[in-house]
Amino acid sequence: MPRKPPARVRASQTRRSGSWSGRPIPRIPGASGALQAAVVRLENADDRFRPGDIAGAFHTWRRVVGGPASRARCYALHADCASCNPPGRDVLESASYRLPRRQAQELRRLTAPLDERFLQLTLPLPSKPPCPWWTLRC
Ligand SMILES: [Zn+2]
Repeated sequence: MPRKPPARVRASQTRRSGSWSGRPIPRIPGASGALQAAVVRLENADDRFRPGDIAGAFHTWRRVVGGPASRARCYALHADCASCNPPGRDVLESASYRLPRRQAQELRRLTAPLDERFLQLTLPLPSKPPCPWWTLRC
C-alpha cells in the first residue's frame, strides 16, 4: 500500500478522530517516529482501531499503574468490564499482534515497565478461568 502524504494522513485523522475529536491525537511517550507512523497506519487501516486508540490505551495503562495500588487493583478486578475500564492493556496487546514485527517489539518494550509495575501492585487470582494475564489479578 503506498504511503499517504502527511497532509492526507492528518486530514483523515481529523475526519475519523472519534473519541479524540477536537483534541490533538495522543502520542505514545518515548515512541520512535517509525512506531508512531506504524500506529497511525494501523489505526487508519484496521476497523478495530480509531485514530488515537493505541496511544490512548498506553496513557490509560500508564495511569492505571501510576499509583495508588488501589487503582491498579480496581482495574484488575474490572478488567473484563468495558463499562468500568476505558480500553487499555487489551488494546496494546491487540496492536502488538498487528504492528510490523520491529514496531511491535518496540511497543512491547515500552509497555514492559508498566506491566512490571502492574504485577508489583496486584496479586494473582489463581481461581479464574484461562484468560489474558492482566485479568487474573486483584
Ligand atoms: Zn466492572
